Amino acid sequence: MTANRQTFNLTKIVAGIVLGMGVLAASVVLGVNYAVDQAVGIDARTKAEDWAKYFINTLPDLDRLLATGKLDERQNAVVATAAKVGNVFRFKLYDAAGNELLESDAAKFDRNAGNDHLDNEAKEVAETKLARIALNDGSKERNMPPLYAEAYVPVFKANGALRTIVETYVDETRVASFFKTTFQALAISLGLGMALAFGAPTLAFLLRTKQAREVKQRVEFLASHDPMTSLLNRRSLAERLLQRIATRPADNCLAVVFLDVDDFKLINDSYGHEAGDEFLKHVASSITAFCQPDDFVARAGGDEFIITLGRDTEDSVMATVEAMMTAVREPLTARGHRISGQVSAGVHILGNTVTSVEDALHNADVALYQSKLDGKNTARLFSDEMEVRMRARRELELLVREAARDRSFELYYQPLVDVRSRYCLGFEALLRLKNKDGVPVPPTVFIPVAEQIGLIEEIGNWVIEEATRTAALWPDAMYVSINLSVKQFASGRLAATVRAALENSDLAPGRLELEVTESLLMENTATVARQLAAIKAFGASIAMDDFGTGYSSLGYLWQFGFDKLKIDRSFITALTADENKARDILDTIVTLAHRLGMKVTAEGIETDRQASILEALSCDQFQGYLYGKPLPMGDIGAYLLQRFHAVAIAPVSGGFPGGPLRRTPGSGLRGRHRLRAWPFTFPVS
Ligand code: C2E
Ligand code: MG
Ligand code: MG
Repeated sequence: MTANRQTFNLTKIVAGIVLGMGVLAASVVLGVNYAVDQAVGIDARTKAEDWAKYFINTLPDLDRLLATGKLDERQNAVVATAAKVGNVFRFKLYDAAGNELLESDAAKFDRNAGNDHLDNEAKEVAETKLARIALNDGSKERNMPPLYAEAYVPVFKANGALRTIVETYVDETRVASFFKTTFQALAISLGLGMALAFGAPTLAFLLRTKQAREVKQRVEFLASHDPMTSLLNRRSLAERLLQRIATRPADNCLAVVFLDVDDFKLINDSYGHEAGDEFLKHVASSITAFCQPDDFVARAGGDEFIITLGRDTEDSVMATVEAMMTAVREPLTARGHRISGQVSAGVHILGNTVTSVEDALHNADVALYQSKLDGKNTARLFSDEMEVRMRARRELELLVREAARDRSFELYYQPLVDVRSRYCLGFEALLRLKNKDGVPVPPTVFIPVAEQIGLIEEIGNWVIEEATRTAALWPDAMYVSINLSVKQFASGRLAATVRAALENSDLAPGRLELEVTESLLMENTATVARQLAAIKAFGASIAMDDFGTGYSSLGYLWQFGFDKLKIDRSFITALTADENKARDILDTIVTLAHRLGMKVTAEGIETDRQASILEALSCDQFQGYLYGKPLPMGDIGAYLLQRFHAVAIAPVSGGFPGGPLRRTPGSGLRGRHRLRAWPFTFPVS
């Protein structure tokens, strides 16, 4: 569109210059002709007057001739030579009334008789007493020069009365040609001079104006468009959306779509920013390919695009969005890389009630957010419940961010008990977070949020530091188990973090266990395996948590070298519903795990029945409310002491949910923290 306008402007300028030059040339031609006529006229008049003066002065006895009209001998001689003087090639003589007396062409110079020789022009000159001159084209007349002047010159007496009229025919052909050449040369040099004097500055002015206009257009374009994709910017789209809302037909289904590239950072990091830019252009063209003339597309910055779509139905809006998303997924080759990417979309259909542009954009953004939460590469339609969920989610995000910043998380510790001895072998560290009203938020709720907003590594590192520091205060034989998120393996720094925490806390690596879930095995297995191997190499052990809720692949377990398998609570709960079936499954899991050299922990033991079944199946460790709920750090001492006293007062089981904890004879008071914190140890079986 811009290129067309520029061509059009240039055409106008060129046409203007050509027209100007045409007008200039025409006026030069007219001007030269006029000037030539004027100059020739003056020349002819001078010549005619000079000749008339010469003739009158040379002709003897003029008054007699005027009176008689007859030439004598001497006069005849003068007349004969006079016709050859100067450029006059013909002449006539009239009396004071305008009657022709003689004519140089006539065979005989004689006075003609009668009034029919009264010359009208001569008569007019006689009456007005003014000279007359006319330039004539003689090219079509016989025996005449191509250009000649016919001049009537009145000759006066001393008293001012008209004496005679002399008519001369002056050949002006050569003079006119001379004047024409001279004036043309003058006009050309003048024209060139003027062209230089005025044309160059005019041209410069025109070019400057054109440049200024182009700069203005560019500035206007940049103010309303994204320079990289040439799409509108957010502000311009909002303006157009406002107009669109005001003018749309009542039955039109108008939608605002937010489209965001999934994991765009990954594309940039993997292929470089230039390839990233190419991908964004690919997204832009994929979107515009499905737009209609009154749809608008903007790049809202970064990897986010906003589209307004006017369609007949909601279905056709969604179909268009799906088509755009499919087109984006087409791989492209940029900077030598084959790049595949995808987008998520949030769609808000504007209802018939008046919606503000801000609300429409906000709602589409909420829907986009939902599609990201729902696993990306998908489109979601805005609903009011979505808004409520989104608000809660944003509050939760804020809570997690603030807790990470202020270190206001807490760690609780849940006992892990040996099945045969019922000794407390250690504790699992469990993260706790309270909302602003002091109500606990379950980790199953806030941990995925921390993972999604990229804070889990920071939080997880804090858990590792805090839990190892706390565990170092416990009796030497007790271990701590720490949960890890898959995302903590992403940076590749996990092993180093664990090692540093062990060194800083002075906790023996053998007293640390790390729990991971099955989802880990589905992610980048090579890097995960390397890091798990590194952690195992310096003496910590690894446990598979929540076994049975994912793929339950024992092959993977063996491959990754897990030391322990924690059977998910759901299997233990299942014992209550269908004991036989659940027991068979549990039997299989325990047997297979043992065959693979792993210990087995049963999670969620709440009843003695569950405990006795799993004991019969040779399960190794128990974790559950039956033996203790997760406790704050400060309650651990009391918990252990209480159980120890229970043993002392009532050696047989009872009184405390986990059964007796026995003191082990000969367990030394080793470790430098023990005396400060714990009077007794609780041996591992
Ligand atoms: P998990 O690792 O399987 O932890 C055991 C969960 O089961 C804990 O829930 C615990 O309170 C609960 N539990 C234990 N015994 C019983 C029982 O007898 N009955 C019932 N109903 N529940 C029992 P919690 O603390 O809510 O933690 C939930 C999950 O959050 C954990 O499951 C773990 O996957 C995750 N999590 C907790 N802390 C952390 C952490 O520091 N980092 C990571 N990445 N995840 C954590
Ligand atoms: Mg766990
Ligand atoms: Mg678990």
